[in-house]
Amino acid sequence: MNKNFSLKGFGSAAVHAGHQHDPRYAHQTPIYATSTYVYDTAEQGMRRFSGQEEGYIYSRWGNPTFTEAEQRIAALETFQLNIEAKGLLHSSGMAAISNLFLSNLKAGDKVLTHFSLYGGSDEILSKLLPDLGIKAAIVDLRQLDKTEDIIRNDKTIKMMYLETPANPTIQCVDIEELTKIAKKYNLIVACDNTFASPYLQQPFQYGVDFVVHSTTKFLNGHGTAIGGILIGKDIEFMKKRSAKVQSLLGSNSNPFDAFLLIQGIKTLEVRMQRHCENAMKVAQFLEQHPAVNKVNYAGLTSHPDYAIAKKQMKHAGGMLSFELKKGLQGGIDFMNKLKMCVRTVSLGTVDTLLSHPASMSHFSVPKEQREKYGITDGLIRMNVGIENSEDIIADLEQAL
Ligand code: PLP
Repeated sequence: MNKNFSLKGFGSAAVHAGHQHDPRYAHQTPIYATSTYVYDTAEQGMRRFSGQEEGYIYSRWGNPTFTEAEQRIAALETFQLNIEAKGLLHSSGMAAISNLFLSNLKAGDKVLTHFSLYGGSDEILSKLLPDLGIKAAIVDLRQLDKTEDIIRNDKTIKMMYLETPANPTIQCVDIEELTKIAKKYNLIVACDNTFASPYLQQPFQYGVDFVVHSTTKFLNGHGTAIGGILIGKDIEFMKKRSAKVQSLLGSNSNPFDAFLLIQGIKTLEVRMQRHCENAMKVAQFLEQHPAVNKVNYAGLTSHPDYAIAKKQMKHAGGMLSFELKKGLQGGIDFMNKLKMCVRTVSLGTVDTLLSHPASMSHFSVPKEQREKYGITDGLIRMNVGIENSEDIIADLEQAL
């Protein structure tokens, strides 16, 4: 695409942003399966290593296939915001989140976060980082006054870490209000935007410093590769500090997975529209079903965080969870009866996926502990896919 042509639509940016004309005229960006890059002369090698000349050196430090995915996702996260950002593609969402913490924090620092978080993020904060002297305060970030009191009284808090909507409870926190509070005390603010995707929500709009994604999910869209991205507004920090942490940890992506991600992102807008449309129909169907106790979908007025989701998301997303009246066995029986929808963990794929946390992902978490986070015996988590909604609902109906 000609650099002087400015795109009006998000869908066009999802198809074209970050794409560079291939020197050999390939239509699609090739899978640059190369570990290293050659120099015309020894002097050129010297210029590359000294930073006098831009160029690829070694694929742990950068690769043209990664670059296209990095630039495209950064362009979508900042689309029409008049902000520049730089992305670093990682081997997984957890690698990107680890880089966020390790490049910004040191022993003695503390992270303030919400109690409902993706399990891996919760574990790194509560089990791994404390060994390095980095602590976490895990609170209810929906209580804004209490949150400010905590920050005011604890000078060790350096970062506020948000995830909204959260996995698996679909709780939402107010990015704008929390960022305003955090910035009064000079905190770094980061947001995991995996469940929403940049099509539905752009945390940079509210002044956050970093956005992270598990690209494994909606950005890839087809469940074909594990990946993650860390995107930051401070370009120098991203180039010097976060890129250094990534290269030393060796948490880079790989060219094939980056290629799959690039293909997936092209359809992000149309996929998200259909995910949201279907999820609303499924949520309404489940809400009136006699076997269902409760439906957690941020697009339903019955959801406690409905107003927050409405304010910061274009639509409520493709993820929901619901609670079956018949508890643990009811959940197991329901999962066994599914005919089209797929029994598996993960999310963000074009096909509808369901998981039963109590018998699957949270099997080893004590019941009292998981129930504190809303993960009850009969809770089913659902990624509503882009199939025809009649088929999704018919499968749920026969299984219920
Ligand atoms: N963040 C969220 C919200 C997630 O749901 C996940 C995984 O499910 C991750 C981060 C971790 O991503 P990955 O599995 O790609 O490491």
